[in-house]
Amino acid sequence: MPSLLKHYRRSIALHLLLVIFGIYFLVAVLVTVIQLYKEYENTKKEFYNEIQTLPSTFGKGISDSVWTYNQELLQSILQGMYNLPIVVGVKVSSLDQKMDFQIGAVLNEQHQFEYYDSKGRPTEQTLTGLGSQALFDHEFPIYYQGPAFDQKIPLGTVTLYSNDQLVFERLKYGFILILVNSIIKTCMLWFIIYFFINKYLGKPLKEFTFKIHQQDTHSPKPIDLAINWTDKNELLVLKDSYNQMIQRVNNNQLELLKLNQELDEKVKARTQDLELAKENAELLAYSDPLTKLNNRRAFFDSGKQSLNQADTQKHSLSLIMIDLDNFKKLNDTYGHAMGDKVLIAFADMLKSSLSSTDIIGRLGGEEFAVILPNTGEEKALQIAEMLSQKASQIELIHEQSLVHFTASMGVVVNPQGNATIDSLLAQADKALYFSKRQGRNQVTAYSSVVTTT
Ligand code: GH3
Ligand code: MG
Ligand code: MG
Repeated sequence: MPSLLKHYRRSIALHLLLVIFGIYFLVAVLVTVIQLYKEYENTKKEFYNEIQTLPSTFGKGISDSVWTYNQELLQSILQGMYNLPIVVGVKVSSLDQKMDFQIGAVLNEQHQFEYYDSKGRPTEQTLTGLGSQALFDHEFPIYYQGPAFDQKIPLGTVTLYSNDQLVFERLKYGFILILVNSIIKTCMLWFIIYFFINKYLGKPLKEFTFKIHQQDTHSPKPIDLAINWTDKNELLVLKDSYNQMIQRVNNNQLELLKLNQELDEKVKARTQDLELAKENAELLAYSDPLTKLNNRRAFFDSGKQSLNQADTQKHSLSLIMIDLDNFKKLNDTYGHAMGDKVLIAFADMLKSSLSSTDIIGRLGGEEFAVILPNTGEEKALQIAEMLSQKASQIELIHEQSLVHFTASMGVVVNPQGNATIDSLLAQADKALYFSKRQGRNQVTAYSSVVTTT
């Protein structure tokens, strides 16, 4: 799963945990501080109260010892007071100044500290651990009230010195307890929150994210989460929605695939149609639709090639030009449809009578031409005669009558050199014209026409 860590910086669970814990921590610190402050205030109050109660405890003994000038007793009582943890110094000032005595840290008239030992002698030694600034004092008067007197006789004053920091000393353990308590509570809460947030949110989300991330994008599959909740929650709904979406995507993909195949097939069929149409178009462009012979253009193209070949190979090549006789009349007598039938029959006869290397074309109307490669004049004249004869033998039936027709032809042989199809056709046409002039249904060689004129 480490690669997944790249995809997000901080998980929702951790973020939630940090926010909750951060707020809890601030509140806990605030509550602890208030608690500590309260504790301090209470302890301080207790402390002052204790100081206040000291005069009633020790007052009688002190006044008795001052009254009786019992230095030893006074010293031991003050020693006893000084030994109390809340007292850092005691000073007795008697009115006659005979019983003045001090122990510990005591303020003088100049508000400076002086330190005295247990015998009341000044000493250079300072009190350890206590800040001199935090010292405070409590002064109370002492009286003698013996059985023989109605009035109280003032004997002087006792001043007790104490230190705020002793409050802290006393609070130390309480403070530590509160702090440890807070830390333990915070840590426990952290673990509890972490455990449950991780269990119910962190882990399922991580698993969900991981499984989605691992999906094969080409064929995603529905996913399942290992965590079992009894109730449906947002994550389960999200998972179900995701699975439904995947199902839909897969179905759509299948449909798309099917449509693609169908489209492919349609394109293929259309391409075939187009190729067929192209072939037909080519056929149309090169062949005569009625007789299926080469049209004028195809005849010229093939004829040029054949002529070039004959030139390079120094072979002779002959051309026959054919025109059906009195075709106009035939059309007029039997109808245009019959004329078409005659044209087809004549073309079929040409195809069946000539070899496949010969080029046969319909130049237009009832005009035909044939190119005979490797054929000299004599052979060409023979072939033309044969064609002329075959044409005259064709019989077609129109209603009750038989239809016959004839053809006139002109034959030319290429004169080895600079002939073109056009020039050959022109020469053959001249010979054909000659045949017509001589009464039709005959074959004339161009050579004979040239020599006779
Ligand atoms: P000639 O013996 O001198 O050649 O006389 P002809 O009548 O054959 O000559 P002409 O050129 O005067 O007439 C040719 C006729 O051929 C005219 C036209 O109506 C007809 N024709 C041309 N093409 C077709 C066609 O495709 N089908 C049919 N039925 N007739 C056509
Ligand atoms: Mg004609
Ligand atoms: Mg004609």
